[in-house]
Amino acid sequence: MRELQSKLRGMDHRGYPAYKDLKGRYRFEKYELSIDHVQGDPFASPSSLSVRVAGKTAGIPEECYREKHRRVALEDFLLRRFAEGVGKISFQAKGSGKSGLVSASHPGQEIMERSACQVNPENGQVLFRFSVGFPARGRSIAAGELEKILFRLLPPVVEEAGIFENLNYKALMKTMELADDQKAIRRQMKELGLVAFVANGAILPRESGVSERPMRGAVEFISPASMEVVLQLPHKGECRGMGIPQGVTLIVGGGYHGKSTLLKTLEKTVYSHIAGDGREYVATDESGMKIRAEDGRSVCEEDISPFIRNLPNGKDTSCFSTLDASGSTSQAANTVEAVWAGSRLLLIDEDTSATNFMIRDELMEQVIAAKKEPIVPFIKRVGQLYQKKGISTILVVGSCGAFFHVADKVIQMDHYVPKEITNEAKEAAKAFPLAMETETGQIEFPDERYIYLPKVEDRNKIKVMGTDGFSFGKKQVDLRYLEQITDGEQMLAIAKALEYLSRRYGGRKIRLSELADEVEALLGQKGLSGLCGGNVIPNMAMPRRMEIAGCINRYIKPKL
Ligand code: ADP
Ligand code: MG
Repeated sequence: MRELQSKLRGMDHRGYPAYKDLKGRYRFEKYELSIDHVQGDPFASPSSLSVRVAGKTAGIPEECYREKHRRVALEDFLLRRFAEGVGKISFQAKGSGKSGLVSASHPGQEIMERSACQVNPENGQVLFRFSVGFPARGRSIAAGELEKILFRLLPPVVEEAGIFENLNYKALMKTMELADDQKAIRRQMKELGLVAFVANGAILPRESGVSERPMRGAVEFISPASMEVVLQLPHKGECRGMGIPQGVTLIVGGGYHGKSTLLKTLEKTVYSHIAGDGREYVATDESGMKIRAEDGRSVCEEDISPFIRNLPNGKDTSCFSTLDASGSTSQAANTVEAVWAGSRLLLIDEDTSATNFMIRDELMEQVIAAKKEPIVPFIKRVGQLYQKKGISTILVVGSCGAFFHVADKVIQMDHYVPKEITNEAKEAAKAFPLAMETETGQIEFPDERYIYLPKVEDRNKIKVMGTDGFSFGKKQVDLRYLEQITDGEQMLAIAKALEYLSRRYGGRKIRLSELADEVEALLGQKGLSGLCGGNVIPNMAMPRRMEIAGCINRYIKPKL
């Protein structure tokens, strides 16, 4: 600490690059400060720093971090306190460019592993990563201002967020209890064969299209009596709500009655949410994958023959490539890819589907003989996907009653209140027999997918565009239709995973599942920092296997 101070005082007014000398680790009273990377000029991306509070100093009880689910919730809790504190000290030191900016990760409503805060499960050490715009006057060093940040402003922020006795004990315990309860929900869902659980009292709609905060004054969720299950949670106790069993579930109802809101909730709750979110007792199978049309996406040597065959140009759909897929072929590719990535639950909204991928009506079936139509619509496959492969589907359909024939459960949203209408729907459907034969045989889903990952030579720069995608060297990777990517931090982790795999396996043909396995194993062993070489770890959030595979599938381009 003294060394840093004297170094700093010695470099005042010197040219900005002299700041580079500060790289290193320094002992402060309660923690170690590490200056991991120093920016090149006052306008460049701020410098990367981290602090480590030793387990003994932090004093967090072991029961808060020994088990993984609690540790993730603890890290999330600490990070939110830290980020709040950091927000208050930002720009209190002044200067040109980004001088005085102090910033940490801003977690959204989800609770997920983030590189910005890590608690070591072995010894309870607390680590925060953040960035600081090293202050300058013009282009010369403003050492006094940096001294103010590192010696006056920062220590109380670190101590308030990283030391147990300064934390709000009650709030922390509530967080731990919620983590236990959320884990119990997911475990009991498996035991009961549920793919989703929505607790009574949950608030599903959000404040607005751009805010993930709960809508005020919304109609609370209440399960139809026939679908109500009772879970026993260790802290909350009895928790009642709607259990959606495995199989094919339809969400129907008039326009604006809350169908898409329910489906969106299920898409999001593959992750757990913070207390007060309204969805903290809602959970969907972790492998649940939103499937939608994505016209214009590229498809590279993909077997989409379960859904598309006999194309007019004679193209082989068991090895199908295009740089510009149609609505139906893109949705077919997305479905097949989700199955390959290991999804056990498909989430589909007719609002974002290609109609001809989903269904073909009786009249059309008569006029255009099935032989001439390349598409095997999803309605023919959805039951088979569950019966033969154990893959469930939850489907929003407001406009097409034919799906009643293939559904196991039908839920009607009525003024935001769900009602189970399975029997009525099935009864009514008898008067409108399904004109087509559904597929019931063994589904010929190819088990494996081999892909060729291009080599990357030198350092390809990654630039993230929020949840839309990223650029990797000269390539743009458009992931905006992988709608479950939570934020830019998760996007960066996905990009880093791609970089990691390209370095190792670039220039070879390899099984896609092997690539996904490798990243999963790496993340499991080393956490997010395993994705990066060196000691500068950017802000990342834990990605899922589905999105990593989805990214690779969109990144590889066919040679046409
Ligand atoms: P649908 O898909 O059935 O047409 P949406 O799910 O898009 O309907 O919902 C329509 C509108 O109703 C949205 O603006 C949504 O925010 C609002 N909404 C949804 N659920 C609720 C609720 N439980 N309470 C109040 N408003 C809701
Ligand atoms: Mg809708």
